[in-house]
Formats: sequence, structure tokens, C-alpha cells
Amino acid sequence: MQTAAEPSAVAARVRRVAESATLAIDARAKALKAAGEDVVGFGAGEPDFPTPAHIVAAAQRACADPANHRYSPTAGLPALRAAIARKTARDSGLEVSPDEVLVANGGKHALYTVFQALLDPGDEVLLPAPYWVSYPEQIALAGGRAVAVPTDVGSGFRVSVEQLDAARTPRTKALLFVSPSNPTGAVYPPDVVAAIGRWAEDTGLWVITDEIYEHLVYGDARFVSMPAVVEGLRDRCIVVNGVAKTYAMTGWRVGWSIAPVPFTRAMTRLQSHATSNVGNVAQAAALAAVEGPLNDVATMRATYDRRRRVAHERLDAIEGVVCPLPEGAFYAFPSVEGVLGRDVGGRRVTTAAQLCEALLDCAKVALVPGEGFGAPGYVRLSYALSDEDLVKGLERIAAALA
Ligand code: GLU
Repeated sequence: MQTAAEPSAVAARVRRVAESATLAIDARAKALKAAGEDVVGFGAGEPDFPTPAHIVAAAQRACADPANHRYSPTAGLPALRAAIARKTARDSGLEVSPDEVLVANGGKHALYTVFQALLDPGDEVLLPAPYWVSYPEQIALAGGRAVAVPTDVGSGFRVSVEQLDAARTPRTKALLFVSPSNPTGAVYPPDVVAAIGRWAEDTGLWVITDEIYEHLVYGDARFVSMPAVVEGLRDRCIVVNGVAKTYAMTGWRVGWSIAPVPFTRAMTRLQSHATSNVGNVAQAAALAAVEGPLNDVATMRATYDRRRRVAHERLDAIEGVVCPLPEGAFYAFPSVEGVLGRDVGGRRVTTAAQLCEALLDCAKVALVPGEGFGAPGYVRLSYALSDEDLVKGLERIAAALA
């Protein structure tokens, strides 16, 4: 967001970029905590678990190896690219070659590079809304145009093929697909993933599928990877993933894209001028993660499963709040329409942004307003925080909105 103090020398395309709403609220909550305030942070989605010990140990060993003190290939350590290919076959049944894998500084960086390599000025990307805050900004920075396709609580936050088709124009180049979804927690059933994939195949669109929450599905929900169920889409599909959410490794910054080889080569050329290689120690940690077992994520998943029910029950019980039970990821995304117009903490709130401001000031809870996700009238809460903080924060919200 442009501020009065921003120098006019800043390039127009950067002046137009909004600050990441998730990181902004996270930074604010962490700063208040550091200043001694008892703030409960529902802001940025990041696991409250430490990175598993065997992964940390691998990083410690890598630190001591002088080979890791030097540049390494831009596209990623060969052993890691091969391990990501094996992990992809193991977890989603998608057979890929290591040459299709490009290691990046987190899933967010992988997405940035994908949009830069895919979009020409004016190319449109269909973006089911609510969407994660960084997608439209990254699309715009690549010269593209994000075309939001709206969903709501009533549709389970899922777009239909009919909606997508109605939003398609001759300029549409790609669909951004994410399931389990950040910010809504929705998971598309396998038959709907297949139907959307077949539609994209028939219409000749590219699909970018963000699979960062693949292991965080609950109850009857099931994750399927679109190119694994729609073989014909393989030549025009880019999978984005990373270690952050599965292995509690948000701060290590290792993600990747998987794309057809010529496309991965193009992205590697771009990355060779932008970042060179991802830190070798972090790559060694990621290698230990993806080669290792999935038992830690099973424990985390069971914990999030418990917490999502608590978040759903307590939020949905608040008059004016409608909170569906999330099916995946670790976000609750309630509608707060029914609360707007009330006084909260002594001030009238008419937007989700004002509500979040008021709740931070009067109840010391940090939530992300829906506006940044293309969903005014909603708020996002990450429930990847301790059980104790979760209940404390939800009690505070209920009291403030009573
Ligand atoms: N993906 C997380 C979130 O949405 C991390 C913060 C960010 O990068 O936006 O909260």
C-alpha cells in the first residue's frame, strides 16, 4: 500500500504492491509480544512445533562440511531434486524426473518465479477467491491480471467448472488451484479436482497447483494432486510445494516447483540472476525431511485436527459469526458479517479490517482481515498455535463480541 512518505522514485509497479497482510499482522503481534504484551497470534500460519530433531541434526552436520560453504547449482542440490521427485511419487503418485524440479527459497519464491516465467503483459490468471494474499500481487508484478472467481461459505469455498468457464476470456492463460486451501481450509473432493483438471486440459489452460498443505487434511477429506489424476494436463501443469508446513520448517525457506523440463530450464535461468542457489544448509535439512518418515506430520495433523474442532465450535457459537469446520490446512475462515455494525472495544466496526484492529487493541488477539484475501466480511485465524493460546484467544474473541 502506498504511503504518503513513499518516495516517488519507487517504481510504479512496486508502489502498487500491497504489503503482505499475513506477514504484517504477524510482525505486529510478535512486536507486541516482544514488548511484553500478552498477545495471542492467530496471524501468519506457521506450525508451533519445532522442526523434527533428525532434520536439525542433518543441518548441523551440513554446516560443518566445507562443500556447503560454496555456491551450488542454481536449480538445487542434485540429491535434493532427486529426493523431491521420489517424494512426489510417494505422496501424490505423480512420477516426475529430477530435471523437472527447481528448488526455491520457499513455496512463495517458487510461485513468484513461476508467474514471472509464465505471464506476458495482460495475461489473465483465474484465481478462486478467497485467495492467499500473495497470489494477486505476484501475478501483477509479472504483468499479469488476476481474475477473481468468488466463492463463499455457502459454496464451501469451492469454485465450480461452470464458474471458471464463465470467467475465461481469450486472454486467460492459467488457473491457480489450491487444495487444501489457504485461507479457507476447504479441500476439493477428488472427483471435482479431476473435473477441473479435465476442463483445463480441454481449454488449453495452464494450471499452477499449490500443494503446500497436502498432508494436512482431516476427517473424510482427501488430498489429490491434479496432474496425478489428469494425465493429459502434465505438459501444462506446475506443482508448487515445500517443506514449511509438513515438517514445521517455515523459517528454513525451502520450496520447489515441478514443471515440464523446458519450463524448469527457463525458470532456472531466471533464478540464476535472482538468487543463485538456495542456502546449502537449508537444502540439506530439506533433504533429510523429504527422505525421512512422515510420522512427525501425523502427530501434528492429529493435533491440528483437535484444534480445528475447538476453533470451529467456539467461533461458530458466537452470535453473528459463521464458521464452517475446516477440512484442511490450519486455518479457520469465519464470516463476521453478522458482527459488523456493532461496537467492539468501545468503537463501531463496519469492516473486517476495523474489527481486527479493535480485537488487537481491546482483546489482544491478532487475526488477519479478509480484505487481503479478496473476502471482505471474513477473518482468518491460524489454529497452528498451542492449545492453551488457542482457547485463551477464542475466549477473548467471544468476550469482546458478546
Ligand atoms: N502462508 C502463511 C500464511 O498465509 C505464511 C505467511 C505468508 O507468507 O503469507 O500465513
